[in-house]
Amino acid sequence: MSNLTLKNINKIYPNGFQAVYDFNLDIKHGEFITLVGPSGCGKSTTLRMIAGLENISEGEFYIGDTLANDLNPKQRGIAMVFQSYALYPNLSVFENLAFGLELQGLDEEIIEERVIKTAKILGLETYLDRKPRELSGGQCQRVAVGRAIIRKVDIFLMDEPLSNLDAKQRVTMRSEIIDIHRKVGSTTIYVTHDQTEAMTMSDRIVVMKDGYVQQVGTPKELYFEPVNLFVAGFIGEPPMNFVPCHLENESLLFNEASVSLNLVSKFPQIKEHKELYFGFRPEHALVKYDDPSIGVEVEGFVELTELLGDNTNVYTKIGEHNVILKVDPHDAPKVDSTFKFLIPYESMYFFDKETERVIK
Ligand code: ATP
Repeated sequence: MSNLTLKNINKIYPNGFQAVYDFNLDIKHGEFITLVGPSGCGKSTTLRMIAGLENISEGEFYIGDTLANDLNPKQRGIAMVFQSYALYPNLSVFENLAFGLELQGLDEEIIEERVIKTAKILGLETYLDRKPRELSGGQCQRVAVGRAIIRKVDIFLMDEPLSNLDAKQRVTMRSEIIDIHRKVGSTTIYVTHDQTEAMTMSDRIVVMKDGYVQQVGTPKELYFEPVNLFVAGFIGEPPMNFVPCHLENESLLFNEASVSLNLVSKFPQIKEHKELYFGFRPEHALVKYDDPSIGVEVEGFVELTELLGDNTNVYTKIGEHNVILKVDPHDAPKVDSTFKFLIPYESMYFFDKETERVIK
C-alpha cells in the first residue's frame, strides 16, 4: 500500500533532448491515473521513469516514503503492460501466466492456483492450452494484463495497451481493465493518446503537451474547467469550437466585425483582454429552445450535416469561422438552409489569445 510522488521530475535524453519538464504529481494508492496527450508529448518517457526503465535526470520519485530514483525495476514492485503484449510465442497461455511465478521459485501448486484464479478474472479459463498465435488481439491483451496482475504488485503501468485492438474490442477491454482495477485494488498509471479512453477510465487525468503538464484533474474538471486552449480542445469530441474575436467598445467582434456580440456586461472579466478566443462545445449549442434569454442567438447557414446515429454534427459558421454543433438528429436543420442556434451563457468560455489561458 503506497502512494507515489513525483517531484520536479525532468528528463533529458543523452542526445540533449528534454522530453519532460518539471513533472509534479501525488498519486494515492488505488487511483487510476491516465497520462494523455499527442504523440511525442512525453507520456511514455514519464511512465518509463516510474518503471525504472529510464533514469530520472532531475527530481525525486518516491514510492511511499522511499526515494525510488535509484531502485531497479524489480525492486519497485511494479508490473507493466506494453502495447506489444510481449507474450512468449512458444508458451501456452498457462505457461505465459505462470512464467514470472516460476522465476520466483513458487510451489507448483501455488502457481497453478494463482494461474487459474487470474484466468477466471480475465475470462481465459478455456484458453489456457492455446499459444498466443491461436488467440485474438483482445485475448492476447488479456493474457498480457493477466501476467501483470498475477504478480500481485501494488502498481500497474500500462502503455497504450489497447492500441492494437479494433474499435469494438477497445470498448470491451476498456471496461474490463476498469473492472480488473477495481477487483485488484492496485494503483494504475495508464498512458494513451485517446481522450475517450482517458475520460472513461480514469479517476484523474494528466494532460501533457511538449513535455509539460498542462492540467491535472478529474474527467469532469477537465471537461468543464479546462485551464487553457489546449486542454479545452483536446478533451471532448468533436473538439470545442474556438472563434477568434476582439473587444471593441464593450462588444466582441468576430471575423472583421461581421458578427458582434455584446457579452461584456455578462462577462466583465473579458474587459482586460483585447484579443480573445470565444469557445463553446458542439454539444452545448441549442437548435431548439423556448427561452433565448439564457444565451446568445446566432444565425447560421448549414453547410453539411453528418448523421452519427444518436446525434448529428451540423457544420456551420460564425461570421467566416467554421463551427460544429452536435444536435439531436430529430432537430437537425437541413443542408443549405439558414437557421438559428443558441449558445447558452453557462456554456461559454473565453481564452486570452496570447497566453491561451482561460479567462475566469
Ligand atoms: P507516443 O504517443 O508517440 O508514444 P509519447 O508522448 O509517449 O509519444 P515519448 O515516447 O515519451 O512520447 O517521447 C517524448 C519525446 O522524447 C519525443 O519527442 C521523442 O522523440 C523523444 N525521445 C524518446 N526517446 C528518446 C531517446 N531515447 N532519445 C532521444 N529522444 C527521445
